[in-house]
Amino acid sequence: MLTDRVNTLSESITIAITTLAQELKAEGKDILSFSAGEPDFDTPQVIKDAAIAAINEGFTKYTAVDGIVELRVAIAAKLKKDNGLTYAPNQIITNNGAKHSLFNLISATIQKGAEVIIPSPYWVTYPELVNYCGGKVVEIETTDETSFKITPEQLKAAITPKSRMLILTSPSNPTGSIYTRDELVELGKVLEGTDIIVASDEMYEKLTYDGTFTSCAAVSEDMYKRTVTINGLSKSVAMTGWRFGYMAAADTELIKATKKLQSQSTSNINTITQKAAIAGLDGSADADIEMMRKAFIERRDEAVKLVNAIDGLSVVKPDGAFYLFVNIKEVSSDSLDFAKELLDKKLVAVVPGVAFGSEGYFRMSFATDIETIRTGIARIAEFVAELK
Ligand code: PLP
Repeated sequence: MLTDRVNTLSESITIAITTLAQELKAEGKDILSFSAGEPDFDTPQVIKDAAIAAINEGFTKYTAVDGIVELRVAIAAKLKKDNGLTYAPNQIITNNGAKHSLFNLISATIQKGAEVIIPSPYWVTYPELVNYCGGKVVEIETTDETSFKITPEQLKAAITPKSRMLILTSPSNPTGSIYTRDELVELGKVLEGTDIIVASDEMYEKLTYDGTFTSCAAVSEDMYKRTVTINGLSKSVAMTGWRFGYMAAADTELIKATKKLQSQSTSNINTITQKAAIAGLDGSADADIEMMRKAFIERRDEAVKLVNAIDGLSVVKPDGAFYLFVNIKEVSSDSLDFAKELLDKKLVAVVPGVAFGSEGYFRMSFATDIETIRTGIARIAEFVAELK
């Protein structure tokens, strides 16, 4: 018999579609997949070299649960340099991916009755983790009309005495929207006087194309105290499989609690990844990051142009990350049906908006080569023309 807790979880639609597309491909079908959330680039050589050196030096034993000091010092230096944030190594813990950081954070702070405010469209994992921990999800709906960003008024209306956390993702998966400093300042003002924690998911920070990225914790003293900054290297240096993420918080008691949880569950993260991550954080891979960022800009511009040329579809140009969140409201009222039919008829895999809590859209990743993007969008155009 399974627990009620585990029964709250649903399988990720993103992973389900990606797996189905892989299976069809293995059967020999000419599938073009835009569903996965990972860069198509290889991990930079300088990071691989650091990992190989770690293996050769025998750096293969248990470490401190929160990660080696050298790594947490490198994270602190990165947060200072890139984000203007001051954290000591004991205010930082490393985890098996940012997904694990979120799991530990939500496990440590959310229980039955607690409300977690999540703007939609959202990254699929957030509501799942909240439900798993017995909390209640309070969604704030956004649309392309406000560039998928919540307003201070919406936030104010969502807060109740039970509110315990707000999850903000900037740049966003699935929309690519980025909150400006001024917008974060205004949202921060609404939170003043509450005991709401801000979980600031900054995974796509390095993939910023227009506008300037600002960390939530950097906008005021009050926001610094209430924010838990979450980040990793999966997206910025193509390290999805290495499993590295971290969180930083002013509240050392919170970090200590998540360390206790980690000590009784997974212990330290992989030692080889720890050494490799230092090379991903200390500037050694900056040229690689810039090369990938430039490639993403070129792909984004091409994809936005081609999608907006399709009669019936529209997309807001994303400022960051590597997804388009395409509005299909003129041609379909059921994004799951749309995605299934598109895969069936045109062999193109995208993720339905409903998976992210927003009906009337689909998400397509542009973390793939430009030819695939062109061919894929041409097939989408044919599909949409046939729908009309
Ligand atoms: N946060 C967001 C917004 C993401 O899109 C992802 C990955 O898709 C993650 C966190 C988790 O990344 P990882 O666990 O690989 O560090």
